[in-house]
Amino acid sequence: QHDLLKSASGIADRLGVDLYLVGGAVRDLLLARRPNPPDLSAVGAATDFPAALAKALGGQVTADSQFGTAKLRVREALVDLALARKEFYARPGALPTVEPGSLEDDLARRDFSVNAMAVSLNPGDWGELSDPFDGAGDLKRRLIKVLHPLSFQDDPTRLFRAIRFSGRIDFTFESDTKRLMRDGLRFLENVSGDRVRHEIELVFQEQSVVAILQLAEQLGLLAAVYPSLSLTPGLAGASSDLEADRELVLLSSLVYSVPRNDLDAVVRRLNLGTDWSRVAADAVAVRDTMSELGRPLPPSRVYALLHGRHEAAISVCALAAVPEAAENLAHYLTRLRHVRPSLN
Ligand code: ATP
Ligand code: MG
Repeated sequence: QHDLLKSASGIADRLGVDLYLVGGAVRDLLLARRPNPPDLSAVGAATDFPAALAKALGGQVTADSQFGTAKLRVREALVDLALARKEFYARPGALPTVEPGSLEDDLARRDFSVNAMAVSLNPGDWGELSDPFDGAGDLKRRLIKVLHPLSFQDDPTRLFRAIRFSGRIDFTFESDTKRLMRDGLRFLENVSGDRVRHEIELVFQEQSVVAILQLAEQLGLLAAVYPSLSLTPGLAGASSDLEADRELVLLSSLVYSVPRNDLDAVVRRLNLGTDWSRVAADAVAVRDTMSELGRPLPPSRVYALLHGRHEAAISVCALAAVPEAAENLAHYLTRLRHVRPSLN
């Protein structure tokens, strides 16, 4: 990455653009963690700068957005590039209006102090740190801290980002931030289903996903998405179940306590696609057969109750089941579902 950043720096300099490494990449460097694709911020760049930079580096732009952000791929390396900007939020949860800004503007619009640092990539002051919100201090104190009191109101998806980072790097919330998070829960209703679901998908990809979801539950974040969303007890010990069908197991766990009549509302709130809707419906349906499954049943009846239900939904129900029901569910998963009748 160093060579790539050196070349990018030279090209930007020739085009009269100031280039900085920003956000998560700086945080991860200071924590000595391997960063995800590095985030770059370009100050004083025209809108065609991402394409020009990609071309000069021998790569290409793989995605760009109306907010002046682009993803570059150069050989195997990925880079997230944004044009430095100011943001304005017309109302809570709305997408921001943006206009070009200075490096200071660009850092001030960010989510947390530890994500609001920049390292200069300009030949004149290569490597110099800009840290107007003492993110380096908060890294030492291991704190997640917002930059201003309206942060969660402006963008309630930051609630999910806060728990993701706190779980990923094992940080706690600064005390005002924690209070603002509780206060910010009510703004989540302004955020679209697609955006909330996207945040949940990002949580699902985290290595400490169970701890992060537990934190989301404790803070009331799951309930703010939909009142009966929670985590099934037993998920914490189920890391092996998370290997296969990871997302579907986690989804089943979240909807396990949803009343049958509320399921459609949950599907609508998160704008779930066909596959996820089906698995969510299976989790709720299998749960509703749990009292019968807790009794001694002939294998044919166990089969009839569970046949066609998704494995992820069944294994989550097994985690939450009383021993007798868990036994029937395990019997189905390991044996009954593979039995084929001898007669056609
Ligand atoms: P990751 O390692 O998951 O990529 P990251 O901190 O780099 O973590 P990104 O989603 O890649 O997160 O965003 C890059 C940077 O953009 C963040 O570090 C932060 O400064 C800023 N950012 C991203 N999303 C928001 C948001 N919703 N509000 C404010 N700033 C944000
Ligand atoms: Mg990133």
